[in-house]
Amino acid sequence: MLLSEVAYARPASVDEAIALLAGNDGARALAGGQTLINVMKARVASPEVLVDLADLAELREIGFSSAGLLEIGAMVTYAQLVSSSEVDVARPILARVAATIGDVQVRNRGTVGGNVCVADPTNHLPPLLTVLDATFTVRGEGGERSVGAEDFFKGVYLTEVGEGELLTKVSVPPSKGAGDGFAGVTIGKHGTYIVNATATVSEDGVRIALGCVGAVPVRATAMEEALSGGDLGEDAVRAAAEGLGASLDPPGDVHGSADYRRRLAEVSAVRAVLQAASGTGGQ
Ligand SMILES: Cc1cc2nc3c(=O)[nH]c(=O)nc-3n(C[C@H](O)[C@H](O)[C@H](O)COP(=O)(O)OP(=O)(O)OC[C@H]3O[C@@H](n4cnc5c(N)ncnc54)[C@H](O)[C@@H]3O)c2cc1C
Repeated sequence: MLLSEVAYARPASVDEAIALLAGNDGARALAGGQTLINVMKARVASPEVLVDLADLAELREIGFSSAGLLEIGAMVTYAQLVSSSEVDVARPILARVAATIGDVQVRNRGTVGGNVCVADPTNHLPPLLTVLDATFTVRGEGGERSVGAEDFFKGVYLTEVGEGELLTKVSVPPSKGAGDGFAGVTIGKHGTYIVNATATVSEDGVRIALGCVGAVPVRATAMEEALSGGDLGEDAVRAAAEGLGASLDPPGDVHGSADYRRRLAEVSAVRAVLQAASGTGGQ
């Protein structure tokens, strides 16, 4: 289906982009366009003004803050994450997971900001960034604020980014010896997840989050608590995962029943923790 008529703006600065978003009712930021353009074609969304972020070079940067956090601009693509030396040094799991999103075309256009702002419960990055304790910088005409991952995701297609605001960057603590793991089951090869789990193991303990089992990433806090004694052998991890599925209320659909997702959640969480504990990460 063709797009409806829509006004198009291509601002040259972040401030100009925010002014356009704040000054036009029904204006929407356009990042990679892979979700937004499709939902516009399907008439699910009908913004009156598209504010294209393509020329905002500062949103395409990857670097480090003065406090040593890895800073990823909202317009950084998955392909950039995959090839970034900064990501490789600071938190390589981000590159490993980004390398599995969609296909080359999706990775060349899809952006970190778009992935988290669309807040699709099946997207790869929300549970990963939740476990990594990322913070999200949201800027509007009144200034900017930092939002933790657990407050950023509000519901299906709903985040802390309000009308007239932009997500400008995501900040991620470097590994500092932590091991990270990501596992799950997809609909097809490199496809959308039916369930996924991310885990990180550090001297502060174990953090685990599940994707595709709720409106927002779900922390497996009972399993984290059960592993707080430090035994991360396979038997202990499997035992800690018992009851995780029963604690969830996942959706059922054509790709898997709610019970199937409960089972996958346990299996995925075990795999993610074992990967993280071994320090190898990967799929
Ligand atoms: C064939 C295909 C397969 C895919 N498979 C996967 C997959 O397996 N896993 C996965 O995670 N994703 C997958 N995706 C989704 C893809 O990752 C999209 O790129 C992503 O969901 C949206 O990113 P985008 O940059 O295209 O954002 P857009 O579509 O441009 O924007 C999405 C939404 O976010 C808002 N937005 C974007 N940037 C900002 C910002 N900086 N501040 C405020 N609001 C903003 C927009 O206004 C819009 O509402 C797939 C997409 C396609 C087409």
